[in-house]
Amino acid sequence: MNIEQFKGLARLPKFAIPSQYDLHLKLDLSAACTFSGTVKINLSITEKTNFLVLNANQLQFHQALFTTSGNQQYCPSDVVVDDDDEVVVLVFDETLCVGEGLLGIEFSGKLNEHLKGLYRCTYVDEGVKKNMAVTQFEAADARRCFPCWDEPALKMFLQNEKSAAKLDIVTTFLSVDPADFWATFKITLDAPSELTALSNMPIIDEKLDGNIKTVYFEETPVMSTYLVAVVVGLFDHIEDTTADGVKVRAYCPVGRSDEGKFALELTIKSLDIFTKYFSTPYPLPKLDMVTVPEFAAGAMENFGLIVCRDNAMLYSDSKSTARRKQTMSIVVAHEVAHHWFGNLVTMEWWTHLWLNEGFATWVSYMATDNLFPEWNIWTNFLRETAGGLSLDALEQSHPIEVEVHHVHGVEQVFDDIGYRKGSAIIRMLQGYLGDDIFQNAKTEDLWRVISEKSGVNINSLMDCWTKQKGYPVIYVKSKDHILEFEQSQFLSSGLHGDGEWTVPITLALGSYDKRKNFLLESKFGIVDISEFFPSSDETLWIKVNVKQSGFYRVMYEDRLAAQLRKAVENNCLLATDKFGILDDMFALCEACKQPLSSLLLLMNAYRNEMDNMVLLKLIDVCYDVVNISTDAVPDSVNVLKEFFISLLQCSAEKLGWESIPGESHLDVMLRGEVFIALATFGHEKTRRVAMQRFQVLLNDKNTPLLSADMRKAAYISVMRNSSTTNRNGFESLLKFYREVDAMQEKERILQSLASSPDPDVVLEVLNFLVSDEVRDQDITYGLVGLSLECRETAWRWLKENWDRILKKYGSGMLLHYFVREIVTPLSSNEKAEEVEAFFGSHVNPAFDKILKQSIERIRIKARWIQSIRQEQSLPDLVNQLLHKE
Ligand SMILES: [Zn+2]
Repeated sequence: MNIEQFKGLARLPKFAIPSQYDLHLKLDLSAACTFSGTVKINLSITEKTNFLVLNANQLQFHQALFTTSGNQQYCPSDVVVDDDDEVVVLVFDETLCVGEGLLGIEFSGKLNEHLKGLYRCTYVDEGVKKNMAVTQFEAADARRCFPCWDEPALKMFLQNEKSAAKLDIVTTFLSVDPADFWATFKITLDAPSELTALSNMPIIDEKLDGNIKTVYFEETPVMSTYLVAVVVGLFDHIEDTTADGVKVRAYCPVGRSDEGKFALELTIKSLDIFTKYFSTPYPLPKLDMVTVPEFAAGAMENFGLIVCRDNAMLYSDSKSTARRKQTMSIVVAHEVAHHWFGNLVTMEWWTHLWLNEGFATWVSYMATDNLFPEWNIWTNFLRETAGGLSLDALEQSHPIEVEVHHVHGVEQVFDDIGYRKGSAIIRMLQGYLGDDIFQNAKTEDLWRVISEKSGVNINSLMDCWTKQKGYPVIYVKSKDHILEFEQSQFLSSGLHGDGEWTVPITLALGSYDKRKNFLLESKFGIVDISEFFPSSDETLWIKVNVKQSGFYRVMYEDRLAAQLRKAVENNCLLATDKFGILDDMFALCEACKQPLSSLLLLMNAYRNEMDNMVLLKLIDVCYDVVNISTDAVPDSVNVLKEFFISLLQCSAEKLGWESIPGESHLDVMLRGEVFIALATFGHEKTRRVAMQRFQVLLNDKNTPLLSADMRKAAYISVMRNSSTTNRNGFESLLKFYREVDAMQEKERILQSLASSPDPDVVLEVLNFLVSDEVRDQDITYGLVGLSLECRETAWRWLKENWDRILKKYGSGMLLHYFVREIVTPLSSNEKAEEVEAFFGSHVNPAFDKILKQSIERIRIKARWIQSIRQEQSLPDLVNQLLHKE
């Protein structure tokens, strides 16, 4: 008998298939923070075996027994734990025969502090620090809580089934019969009697024994292990009921349930929208959402129990920003949508994660658009797409369908490719086929229905987008009313890629009434547009990729580009198109396919722009151009900043610092961003006003002079003007952080601290960020605001503190922030080599992909800097533009 055969397997062997887990967990939340448990698993032995192999991680085993349906008992002669593969092998001397049975295991473990599996976090109750128990099992951490078959869908493909499945990803996703391999979960918890105990299902019974209560939950429907959840802590809650009678509760920190009202309302409305959209009722009797003090992701769609960070659930008009309101709506709708798409039907294996996440993201925008049409949320969606396009232009990208060979690789699949490219290609399909065809299709057979109704074979169209990484840039030329198209893979590194796509091309010609669609199915294509231009008119604009709904970039020949620039200036285009033209030009510039001067000329065309989402994009581009120019043309940076200030001046004057009664949500959102940008670019008047208002705030925490939306602009001003010799502002801000309760306030302060240009101040800030004063999860805020001036300091600090960081932040997603936010701002080939050399001796599969992407981005910048230095006329152009107004 040899257990070596189970070493290094990507998937668990299928000798046994679970159908029901009866799980009893006993939580000890005293200082020790331990748990013990019993699990009874109903199994079908499908093949006679001397082994039962299941997942477990960091658990101790005390007893195990297998009882057949004929009441024969088998005790394993050995229990072998493999820490690398996270499995436990139960070895039986006698062979287990095909049939049904019950596997009972007693185990114990410790609540960890790494925000995964069953973990502890702390909260303060009447001045006393106490422990809370929370679970986070996606992707593969249920095994840290109880031994189980911890794979999203426990189904082994037969060889021929597998090749058939390759043909149709959605069939793969949905054709599986859940009853074959998912299990139900009957959960029982022993917990301190004064605490609230939550799980996926409603409570059916509760027994009290001294200070301990035993809570019995209803059995779940069949589902995957990664969706099981338990939370035990102290909460206040509010509740409401959907039109269909589903009870929804929002569990908030004690005394703050008022701030859960907006999330509760959103959840109820989203449930109603999706019930209609999917034509399927919400599958459970209840839906709870709970915010916990420490959480690694933003939110998690556990079946019937959404767990989230406070900023995804707590909202108040006075404390929260308009942007927060918007992200919250999308996050809540996303998690609710998963209850159909993801939970009710689950991907067969993590390879198909993108469909799960991409679709949930796409429908969350649909629901939000439905609830808040005035937000123009689909323009905001382009920011998702832009993130996906940026990442997917790296050689270190990956196809959205990734082969996940081992559980260690799973976490890195949860990146922008799955979420953003995934949702963007769904949007591309919708943009190409039209809303009508698309909206009528239900998820169960989305692709098939769409194919039938549109006559386009969607499977083969989508395959080239899901199975290969990257995307094309389309070169467009016009000659005598013939448009010529050529595609080639777009890579920010400027290197050649040989990908080829079937590209849904959409055109608007001089007006949005004149439209044409076609599929570019090979490298070259031509389209006759003479029907649109009966009389020869060379001045009309042509926009390819209408509404920017396609996942590709467009590069126009100079004449077409100039006409489009005019169209931007004359406000002839939709916001989505204005957004896209700018995003494409920036990316082409970064890849050295266009000079920086073309980008600056284009930016100047947005001088009178009124659309807020377009302005937000313009601000993003301003930051990026300032950053690259600091290295490339340091002598021109100040003039450049003045030029950008002049572009934003008009909006700043229109918006002012204080809210205007009756103004739109988007105005409120833009105001904060405009003034943050002005503060960052060193606009003197902004600095003065910000400092004055900050002083007022220190004396009056509720001053109307600094609304939630404007505070970050003030904090950034304070930090941009802080130094070792002028520490007052910095210290006031730290003091404010320590005193204030609201997490959203703390979050804003954290986002501002590292923006100081003074290396010593930033060093102090970095050490503060990893101290006990900042929760581990909040590192995500502190690092993103790092000033360009202090990137070297931060990099040195990272090297010196790496071992400590690794120990504190473990192997999870939080570690990605250190790599991405500190490594990526570097910008020379020498630095890239230094980073490679440093991490060469610190390899870690938990972040190697993020690291490679960051290093590639450094090299892309190094190349771009060289190219900008060749543009002799650039300083003159910047001067001209500044004085052109
Ligand atoms: Zn999701």
